[in-house]
Amino acid sequence: MKILVTGCAGFIGINFTKYLLENYPTDSLVGVDCLTYAANTEELAKLFLCDSFTFYKEDISDAAAIDKIFSLEKPDVVINFAAESHVDRSFGDPELFFKTNVQGTEVLLGASLRHGVGRYHQISTDEVYGEMPIDSKARFTEDSPLAPTSPYSKSKAEADRLVLAYRERGLRASISRSTNNFGKFQHTEKLIPMTVSKLISGESVPIYGDGRNMRDWLFVIDHCRAVDIIIRAGKCEIYNISAENEWSNIDLVKKIMSLSGIPDGELAFVKDRPNHDRRYPVDSSKIRNLGWQPEGKFGERLRETVEWYRGRK
Ligand code: NAD
Repeated sequence: MKILVTGCAGFIGINFTKYLLENYPTDSLVGVDCLTYAANTEELAKLFLCDSFTFYKEDISDAAAIDKIFSLEKPDVVINFAAESHVDRSFGDPELFFKTNVQGTEVLLGASLRHGVGRYHQISTDEVYGEMPIDSKARFTEDSPLAPTSPYSKSKAEADRLVLAYRERGLRASISRSTNNFGKFQHTEKLIPMTVSKLISGESVPIYGDGRNMRDWLFVIDHCRAVDIIIRAGKCEIYNISAENEWSNIDLVKKIMSLSGIPDGELAFVKDRPNHDRRYPVDSSKIRNLGWQPEGKFGERLRETVEWYRGRK
């Protein structure tokens, strides 16, 4: 099978590409990434040693370039991880988020339909559902209405709608909406690597608002396994992916402090960002019915992750 992975140099894309190369040595992988600031070029370079991996430095919103790659490579499966992914940045440059996350998805969908791709999979996010009240016992299911609140989540929701429209036109397409990921190779602008880096350098760790916003944390390799199951055994439908493991930001930062051996690190409460969603709990029973579940204990996975970031300093 030939699998084309976009955003293969980003946090989840690089973990997923490595996961496939390790677990499916007979598959061929085509990586596409335009290498923004978020790309991990050091890890990407290591993949060039692998014969079954081919890389194209291209922008997914460049229709001519993408069409050329599809003509040359004729992928069986396309998985779109490429995105502008940082919510804070989306308020400053919503046009870029629209260009990559919406236009880029449209270009990939169009190419997939024209070139007869057997399966298109869109990596989406729980943020498309919008906010759930902090004390609610409910969870978003795959049928919940979309109510995104930031330019980032709005662009991801629009991309999901496009995927569903192309499915109506005959493309075999699926979507997964995962919660917050953690693990190796994440950019230092994101909460866990940023916290470790601030603690090590003796700076205070910034916390938005009162720190009580909840996020649901999923180990990145568990996310990779879930996507792998969906493309091989799942239907052309939407799947939530969650370990159902919610933490308030402040409790998570305190846990990282203790795992880092710096329990008395300083916190700096900073002005909250606009429309900061309190939480987005999702129901993951549908993907669990396909035989998926998170592996290992959260505390252990977080410890390994914190140690890995400490080792990089
Ligand atoms: P990331 O920002 O770490 O990586 C994104 C990658 O996409 C980078 O390598 C970047 O160079 C590439 N890219 C950006 N614009 C591009 C373009 N126009 N053309 C080609 N490549 C481009 O993001 P991530 O955290 O790995 O997220 C991957 C996907 O997972 C995204 O779609 C994101 O919305 C989704 N997601 C992420 C999380 C999370 O916790 N990180 C949670 C849920 C969903």
